[in-house]
Amino acid sequence: MPRTCIIKEDTADEGVCCRYNAGHRELHQITGIESGMTTAATLQDRFSRRIDYLRLSVTDRCDLRCSYCMPQGFSDYELPADWLTFDEIERVVAAFARMGTSRFRITGGEPLLRRNLSGLAARLSSLSGVEDLSLSTNATHLAQHAVALKAAGVTRLNISLDSLCAERLHQITRRDALDEILEGLLVAKASGFAPIKINMVVMADVNEDEVEDMAAFCFRHGFVLRLIETMPMGETGRNAAYVDLQPIRQRLQARFGLVDGIVGGGGPARYLVTPDGKSSIGFITPMSQHFCETCNRVRLSVDGTLYLCLGQENALPLRPMLRAGCCDEELDAAIRSAIELKPERHEFSEQPGKIIRIMSMTGG
Ligand code: SAM
Ligand code: SF4
Repeated sequence: MPRTCIIKEDTADEGVCCRYNAGHRELHQITGIESGMTTAATLQDRFSRRIDYLRLSVTDRCDLRCSYCMPQGFSDYELPADWLTFDEIERVVAAFARMGTSRFRITGGEPLLRRNLSGLAARLSSLSGVEDLSLSTNATHLAQHAVALKAAGVTRLNISLDSLCAERLHQITRRDALDEILEGLLVAKASGFAPIKINMVVMADVNEDEVEDMAAFCFRHGFVLRLIETMPMGETGRNAAYVDLQPIRQRLQARFGLVDGIVGGGGPARYLVTPDGKSSIGFITPMSQHFCETCNRVRLSVDGTLYLCLGQENALPLRPMLRAGCCDEELDAAIRSAIELKPERHEFSEQPGKIIRIMSMTGG
């Protein structure tokens, strides 16, 4: 529900805006707009990067325990009372959308563990300004939800799958999950999702030798494979067996005769395509090839914290102001001021121990 800021003329300069503790002068300085006005301006940070993509985590829980992501036995979750409600998520998405952000991705933890996710997706996809709504999932529950998600306006899916070998996948995810994931993938394909991207985190002596098989599997089914370097997020990320993807890129290029290509999406992946142009493989290389200069995204965690970079602590908690009943202008102003805090780059290589948050806490 949009909320209007009611500002009395006589307090417009010095007063405190509504119930949220921000002076009007300060609010105007942050937003550059007069109260009561709306703005269609886009969100841009100090480094002239346009922020047109929000990833929103709807849960920090997960039914898997991927070795590079969640520690075994992990249960240090946010309390349900601290989760943003669907109404609150909708308000934040609407705020980003009116400031020019058009692409949104639902993620987690495992987002399909949140009850009535397709109900939320339907609400978000129908908001003015939301042009693209996608979902990242481990697919263990996808077979049951794919049709409803498609009907709710989710168009694109990213699915984590690190191995096609059941035993190996068990070793990585600490659960027997391959059959459910493959079933989810096939139901999603039959439901008309396109593109479906397969995210494979590549690790030394774990699944590094399987990238060719995974590529062949994806080519056969019309999926886009994306290979990902591990990031040192939390102890799990730091302990994951990092592999530089550059030699693997060369290996795949030689094996499949791949050539440089561009695949839409505006994300960090650099793509190679097959000579017939029908299939592609993306390489997400936060460690071996920084892509911070083109970063276009921020992240909202399940507790309503807006994280500005995966590899830095800069963040703004939005939940207190949402629950204090802030108006839309105050919310927009807070988001704009947060975007100002977006750091230039991560320092995963220089300070690998810096980020203790694991990926599922931030929203991957
Ligand atoms: N559960 C869903 C899934 O697995 O797709 C969505 C959330 S998951 C945190 C999002 C992505 O983060 C996955 O593709 C996963 O492989 C990636 N990820 C998690 N921890 C990572 C790490 N330390 N380094 C690189 N990628 C990581
Ligand atoms: Fe769960 Fe996704 Fe993290 Fe794996 S990567 S533990 S599926 S949140």
